[in-house]
Amino acid sequence: MKTNIHICWTLDCEATHPAVGDADLGVRSIRGFMQLIRRANLRSTLFVLPTDAAAYPALLGDLGAQDCQIGMHYHPEVEGYDDFCGSYEGDQQRKMYADGIKKFADAAGLAPKTFRTGSASANDATFPVVAELGFESSSLSLPGRNMTHLRSNWLDAPQHPHYANPANRLLEDGLDLVEVPLTSDPDSMLWFGKHPQDLRVELFDAKNQYYMIDKVLGREKTRSQPVKAIIVLTHNIFEYEDPGDFRHQTMKQMITDFARLADEHQVNLVPATIGQIAAAFRKAAPLKK
Ligand SMILES: [Zn+2]
Repeated sequence: MKTNIHICWTLDCEATHPAVGDADLGVRSIRGFMQLIRRANLRSTLFVLPTDAAAYPALLGDLGAQDCQIGMHYHPEVEGYDDFCGSYEGDQQRKMYADGIKKFADAAGLAPKTFRTGSASANDATFPVVAELGFESSSLSLPGRNMTHLRSNWLDAPQHPHYANPANRLLEDGLDLVEVPLTSDPDSMLWFGKHPQDLRVELFDAKNQYYMIDKVLGREKTRSQPVKAIIVLTHNIFEYEDPGDFRHQTMKQMITDFARLADEHQVNLVPATIGQIAAAFRKAAPLKK
């Protein structure tokens, strides 16, 4: 019998970040990304900044469906703060994310149930606060990343979906919050040895992605966990609607290679949103009260 591995294509939507400042590009990018996803019968979770939600609420309203979950993304620097999420104490993070949820809900008319911080930045207060605010899942850890200047330290963090821990972001269990880590390869460190190779579309060309896809499929199929998952990511700052665009072509080829290599590995890839992966995990490993 083939091994099931969930796959979620995540898109961080931050076209209104001052470094980009182009909401129209963000809209085109999301439309193109979702076309590629839907043509291949895949599923995605969009992590959207509150300011992006305010810039194009109608598009998000049209997209939200079984195959596209709308979650919240949060970069403090967009909201007038001067540091990354992982530098703030619990009370401060609670205020920041609660304000973000309100802004998001006022703009888009929906309450996000899944969450990702900017730059995979977090500290030990992050998961308890995120659980307390009513999020059911998150996807904000990047196992192996060790970038203190981003307050993003995930050395030895769990690589599989798990209940987050109330005291320590690197431990499992205890919170009613399912963390679904980004897929990374801590054996292949980039950027001065501080960042593990991950599956962000814009990191490499398709040929390099092919080797990473092959490697993670081989690794995940042998993982002894109740729910296995591969999480891909990219950002809505590329022209995914343009078939001539390099990122469009890279993503398209990655989708083709995932399908081909899954066959070779005798793996059944199950398209899912982060919320659906979290639900599958809750079913397979019920929360201990
Ligand atoms: Zn971001």
